[in-house]
Amino acid sequence: MPRIALYPGSFDPPTNGHLSIIQRGLKMFDGLLVAVLKNPAKDSLFSVEERVVLLKGAVGGDPRVTLKTFEGLLVKFAQQEKVNTVLRGLRAVSDFEYEFQMANMNRKLDKEIETLFLMTGEDYFYISSRFVRDVARLGGDVTGLVPGNVLAALQKKFKR
Ligand code: ADP
Repeated sequence: MPRIALYPGSFDPPTNGHLSIIQRGLKMFDGLLVAVLKNPAKDSLFSVEERVVLLKGAVGGDPRVTLKTFEGLLVKFAQQEKVNTVLRGLRAVSDFEYEFQMANMNRKLDKEIETLFLMTGEDYFYISSRFVRDVARLGGDVTGLVPGNVLAALQKKFKR
């Protein structure tokens, strides 16, 4: 059986931090199921469909990466996909509390689900989708923080 991990997130937009987690995850697993959350409560910059296209472009068609969208409870999606390892990235202390609560809540909902955290590298710890969105919206240069196709999509979105 191939070992697959589920890497969920909003990816609005995908950043080099996300890509680094994907690349590192692929060293530990045979494949990754990258799942883009459809969150109607969150005001997103890119639609889920756009985010899937951006992720697809960024991973460059690596056959070990499967992209899907999901909504609702992560554990239900994991059960449906028959995957019981969830991969998450940990940036700073600020991520810890939320991630710790979520990992425990998910385990409470399904004791088979384990969350595996990869600590971010020093090049990526300050990169978040939210800051990328805000900086790009204000006309700042996000070169080097996001993959090339995402940079182009941001420039198009904000017409620069
Ligand atoms: P969410 O909106 O659920 O926080 P994100 O799309 O922002 O999801 O991130 C998905 C996952 O990727 C989370 O585990 C997050 O901690 C991780 N992540 C995001 N940015 C980085 C980064 N720069 N370095 C490492 N992990 C990151």
